[in-house]
Amino acid sequence: MSAQQHGPLTGALTDRFGRVARDLRVSLTDRCNLRCSYCMPPEGLDWLPADRTLTDGEVVRLCRIGVELLGIRKIRFTGGEPLLRRGLETIIAAAATLRTDRGRAPELALTTNGLGLDRRAQDLAAAGLDRVNVSLDTLDPAHYAQIAHRDRLPDVLAGIAAARRAGLAPVKVNAVVLKGVNDADAPALLDFCLAEGVQLRFIEQMPIGPIETWDRGRLITREDVLALLGTTHRLEPAPVTDPHAPARLWQVDGDPARTVGVIASVSEPFCGACDRTRLTADGQIRSCLFAVGETDLRAPLRRGADDAEIARLWADAMRAKPAAHGLDGEEFAVPSRTMSRIGG
Ligand code: SAM
Ligand code: SF4
Repeated sequence: MSAQQHGPLTGALTDRFGRVARDLRVSLTDRCNLRCSYCMPPEGLDWLPADRTLTDGEVVRLCRIGVELLGIRKIRFTGGEPLLRRGLETIIAAAATLRTDRGRAPELALTTNGLGLDRRAQDLAAAGLDRVNVSLDTLDPAHYAQIAHRDRLPDVLAGIAAARRAGLAPVKVNAVVLKGVNDADAPALLDFCLAEGVQLRFIEQMPIGPIETWDRGRLITREDVLALLGTTHRLEPAPVTDPHAPARLWQVDGDPARTVGVIASVSEPFCGACDRTRLTADGQIRSCLFAVGETDLRAPLRRGADDAEIARLWADAMRAKPAAHGLDGEEFAVPSRTMSRIGG
């Protein structure tokens, strides 16, 4: 039974609290060519074996079920490092042929560390990718190498420039600030992003990497980021235009066209407005980055389940989505997988 025969079931990914998931995060691999301290241990992880990783065809089928049966309108490809996935352009080209309940192609985005993006940005745009987020925590080469455990800053900058040339707009930069490492670099990063015309968003560090690297007492919160940027710029809250966007925006120096975002995942979680559903590289649905359980779609896919059965399993997984992650509370339990294994 195909998705077309069923017709779209708009809004089918609804949870017990009335939230509707429209935004699918697809992790294409758990592997990475960097070792950002807050995400992965320096020695790497035990990578998924090939036979447990979804094939390109399986990823595309699940994207189709999400879009055509379950009301997904936006797909973000992530990882691990999604540029390490050889079939990325093929997967994006196939996703671009899907049509949402609004009759349009889903919005297609990529979150990447930028390594190799300079060589692939044009092809990704031609395949149908709409926009890209590049992770960059500092412009200081020594601090970059200290965080990422690799000396690759020039590659990231080349990737950002290529993404802009390819029209993958708006190009956004994601930055995590670590106390005593790159906190003093935040104003220069903002100046760079404003000059390049890319949107900078700081993300509070979450306890989803190596556990010894997270310490609530040393967390650089949104208020800390604003104070750091406030040493060189005048910041005022910008109007909220998208209630589902996790980043709150600040206008820089009174210019509405110049903004900076902060995602306060720990100090002010946005769980009440969350519209995300996540697919891991090994075919598991996670209703939340911090969910304790997950739902396997790989085994049903491989034993020949039809689209309707897969859609039902996915919808059931999302119905059980927790109300909130409680990251800042006593009861918080560290998730069973790290960020790179779930897909950030
Ligand atoms: N490798 C790609 C990249 O770095 O953009 C995509 C995957 S990465 C897991 C996605 C995003 O998660 C990155 O922007 C990264 O900075 C962020 N991230 C990783 N670990 C984090 C943590 N512990 N807290 C907050 N953000 C984190
Ligand atoms: Fe790799 Fe991205 Fe994790 Fe850094 S944040 S180690 S680039 S997956």
